[in-house]
Amino acid sequence: MTTETTIPAITLHDGRTIPQLGFGTLSVPPDREPTPDNTAKTAEVVGWALEAGIRHVDTAQMYGNERGVGQAIAKSGIPREELWITSKLGNANHHPADVERSYEETLDKLGLEQLDLFLMHWPLPTLYDGDYVSTWKAMTDLVDDGRLGSAGVSNFHAEHLERIITETGVIPVVNQIEAHPYFANTSAIEATRSHGIAVEAWSPLGQGTVLEEPAITEIAAAKGKTVAQVTLRWHIQHDHIVFPKSMHRERIQENLAIFDFALSPDEMTAIDALDRGEEGRVGPNPETFAWVPSAETPNPR
Ligand code: NAD
Repeated sequence: MTTETTIPAITLHDGRTIPQLGFGTLSVPPDREPTPDNTAKTAEVVGWALEAGIRHVDTAQMYGNERGVGQAIAKSGIPREELWITSKLGNANHHPADVERSYEETLDKLGLEQLDLFLMHWPLPTLYDGDYVSTWKAMTDLVDDGRLGSAGVSNFHAEHLERIITETGVIPVVNQIEAHPYFANTSAIEATRSHGIAVEAWSPLGQGTVLEEPAITEIAAAKGKTVAQVTLRWHIQHDHIVFPKSMHRERIQENLAIFDFALSPDEMTAIDALDRGEEGRVGPNPETFAWVPSAETPNPR
């Protein structure tokens, strides 16, 4: 049993350290519209996460909420060096000139001089003539220019990783991919780790789908913890970086209270056994996902 109560840090291959637990902001608020009301709501909710002790926030150009995240950061008064802020390149911005332009827009919206981590949100292998390599090169140029802390990718499979690494020689620091008890995503995780890249697990609670799972409920009852806490603890013990999302203050605090207990090897194995393979996905498959936001379709579904 561990007595750890602070959030561990993971050292990335470029030597920078990221808090292993953060706060996810997809659908904070639900409709991705940067209206004044929505921006105020995002600022309030992200403010709760920062007040609770979270120092790592995961946002994206396509979430439409970077201004609200920025307002929460400014209001918190937390020194910049104590925060880890990630955003992601939107699917409409893959052309190299758009990488740089949209990065500047992201900084402006967040009110920051530099991001800690900028991710290519999706590889989009069926768009842009299949060229995600020059997109990746443009992102790594931001690091070389000293304007970005670290560059990474999201939703990359083995072949996508191989290609950008072979063609540019630059290895992403993280790969942010869907992973949770119903979708272990083993092949993507193995490919990611084979390059020394850290794994960030998105939708760590399967967007809430795992919360009724009897096998985890049983473990949670035995531990005196909630199903969400046991599931997040399973990720932590698998060395995943996670950032659960919630719009409820008490759940945000609950999701942070996962460092005062540990799962046994048998409990870990019981949760590992829930993997449903491809059927367990809650999000799109990166091989075919090709949605680009527009005024008509601001949401992927
Ligand atoms: P999640 O797995 O974090 O689940 C969120 C849902 O679980 C919430 O809507 C809430 O209903 C429920 N929940 C959270 N805490 C709870 C608790 N303690 N008790 C009961 N219910 C609780 O789903 P997510 O938001 O999709 O994923 C987390 C983050 O991952 C996102 O916010 C985003 O930052 C990131 N993400 C990235 C990608 C990508 O393509 N890179 C895709 C999806 C999500």
